[in-house]
Amino acid sequence: MQVRKRIRVSGIVQGVGFRPYVFRLAGAHHLSGHIANDAAGVVIEVQGPDANIAEFLRALPSNAPSLALITDLQVTEIACDGAAGFSILPSEKFESVRTLILPDIATCEDCLRELFDPADRRYLYPFINCTNCGPRFTIIRGLPYDRPQTSMSVFRMCPRCLAEYEDPRNRRFHAQPNACPDCGPRVELLDAGGQTLASVDPVGDAAELLRGGSIVAVKGLGGFHLAADATSAASVERLRERKNRVDKPFAVIVPDPAAAECFCELTAEDRELLTSPRRPIVLLSRKRSNLIVDAVAPFQSTLGLFLPYTPLHHLLLHKSQLPALVMTSGNLSEEPIAIANSEAVSRLGAIADAFIVHNREILLRSDDSVVRRVAGRTRQLRRSRGYVPVPVFLHREFPAVLAVGGELKNTVCILKGRQAFLSQHVGDLENAEAFHFFREAIEHLQEILEVRPSLLACDLHPDYFSTRWALAQAGLRAMAVQHHHAHIASCMAENHLDGRVIGIALDGTGYGTDGCVWGGEVLLAGYAGFTRSAHLAYVPMPGGAAAIRQPWRMAVSYLASHFGDNFRELPIEFTRWVDRGKVNTLQRMMKENLNSPLTSSCGRLFDAVAALVGVRRGVNYEGQAAIELEAAMGDCSDATAYPLEIRCAMPPNEACWEIDTRPLFENLVRDLQTPVPVPVISRRFHNGLVEAFARAAELIRNQSTLSRVCLSGGSFQNAFLLEHLTRRLEAAGFDVFSHSEVPASDGGLSLGQALVAAYSGL
Ligand SMILES: [Zn+2]
Ligand SMILES: [Zn+2]
Ligand SMILES: [Zn+2]
Repeated sequence: MQVRKRIRVSGIVQGVGFRPYVFRLAGAHHLSGHIANDAAGVVIEVQGPDANIAEFLRALPSNAPSLALITDLQVTEIACDGAAGFSILPSEKFESVRTLILPDIATCEDCLRELFDPADRRYLYPFINCTNCGPRFTIIRGLPYDRPQTSMSVFRMCPRCLAEYEDPRNRRFHAQPNACPDCGPRVELLDAGGQTLASVDPVGDAAELLRGGSIVAVKGLGGFHLAADATSAASVERLRERKNRVDKPFAVIVPDPAAAECFCELTAEDRELLTSPRRPIVLLSRKRSNLIVDAVAPFQSTLGLFLPYTPLHHLLLHKSQLPALVMTSGNLSEEPIAIANSEAVSRLGAIADAFIVHNREILLRSDDSVVRRVAGRTRQLRRSRGYVPVPVFLHREFPAVLAVGGELKNTVCILKGRQAFLSQHVGDLENAEAFHFFREAIEHLQEILEVRPSLLACDLHPDYFSTRWALAQAGLRAMAVQHHHAHIASCMAENHLDGRVIGIALDGTGYGTDGCVWGGEVLLAGYAGFTRSAHLAYVPMPGGAAAIRQPWRMAVSYLASHFGDNFRELPIEFTRWVDRGKVNTLQRMMKENLNSPLTSSCGRLFDAVAALVGVRRGVNYEGQAAIELEAAMGDCSDATAYPLEIRCAMPPNEACWEIDTRPLFENLVRDLQTPVPVPVISRRFHNGLVEAFARAAELIRNQSTLSRVCLSGGSFQNAFLLEHLTRRLEAAGFDVFSHSEVPASDGGLSLGQALVAAYSGL
């Protein structure tokens, strides 16, 4: 019997080859009908024998293109009609856009084969792509996702490209960036001053420059990279010097997984991440001796590797024959990555010896994403290219909210229905360029989602640029959300939790409701509110922000707090090293309460310990001391934990427990005198933190009967802390939730802010 069914498919089903796929599938099952893109995704009508339709429906989601993401599939029966064959109907401009835009996708295997096939018409063409790969998010101006709405609109397809574009059986059917050497974008080689260098093979010449030790700026998908030979100490040192980047690690591009294996330990999951179409930078354990020079990632046990994701990368590596290239964001220190050719020349001209540019415009900057496998799951350290703008799916519908994030590692987030759209990594708003990008990211996200939320969410810190921006928006309501509350809410959101949880939020800095600098917090939290249940005991931060840049100040603060003025007589290397005059000044500041805010920050505790043991006394980038203290542990397996004492805080805060670090420092100082090796001290410190926060959670469970724990905050980028605290809590019977979709750091803050504000608006 003939039947006809209408199938509505929602999710990421446009720009991923879904229509040609359905076209072929319908043919294989001898069904007539049609398919069209619409505002929510695609609508399919199929007609034929009942059994064939049932088979078709079974196959539809399971064999879908790998880039498709089906979030909903609704089938209704409708009246049959007489039309034969199966057709793809043209798209229309939709009233309200609910379909999802795709992130940029790494060059696929088919395109790669053609790229290196001398018989193919796109042989060595740096812009080869198809429906399964190529740029998306970074070249889109608006919706629907069609060529006129992209930066490809200025290139007119040649007859051969157009024929591919219009043929439903072709891999390039409706591939919006489709192009070839006859009609598409071109590469040029420029000198440091931006002058075009005559060259028949610009990529080959750039590769030759790299081999000779030069620094080359390369235009990528979401911005410029600075490339240098990762096996040449001189090249890497020169890059550090010119980029003014002392020792923050560089990411490295390698041609294939086999090359990655030469430099790092790779699990099957790591390999999968490296080769995934999203192509993030993957943080991997570094093999001890290898060709990559130490200056690429000094004092680190890990190395950030990634594989080529554009044809241009493939060609550059192929032609240079180098096993590894440093590929770092094309910017000065913490500024946003450069995207326009002229902007790159003016900002990077003093760093790069040459530029590889092209004339396909990048409309939106997007840095590389950084991920790491920890405790059996993928963790986001920076969520950007390849992931944005795929939403985080939520457990229920919410009113529209725009959350503007924090100050460092900023992202913004828009809630719409059951989806939360986080922006790409915006960066540190302290610099003017980044603040400009912040406003641009908000504008673009609102544009492509076609939503203008009237409710805003921001951090409680009154001086953050993001907070000030939110409060200055006329006619819109802005809700300030406490920093650690937002961290825990973001962890709840991505794990689809509701109700209340025990939230352990450990990070560097977050403005507290008492005006102090929080960061070692245990909260009883739900979206609707929180109470502070436990925290690391307060110590002064002498000099405020200066104490963040100079961890030795925190060591002085902790020693003075726990040993009094006599700490200077302690027979340890630190007291011999530290400048007496400076210590006097700090002690006076702390006693007289001058620029010495109180803090319960976990990050500052890491800093103090790193400085005391001599791992790091001044930092060149955020989190450096903590990262190096973790790395210093090596594979030490010492089981001792430095003790921390949990005691009832003094009134008026009786409901709150305080985690006292005095016994920790007494034991640590004793170990320093013995002397116990640094790896053992680092391990004992980490063990102590795990034990203290696990016991705090147990105390709170006894009072509250809650047994779900959420772990969030930048300190959970410490793999040891995340892994061991999770294990310890699970052994004690807790259900433990942590981050996988969004960063645990402030990069995920906007998601939590959005949920807290949305709840207030329900
Ligand atoms: Zn492809
Ligand atoms: Zn063409
Ligand atoms: Zn934070």
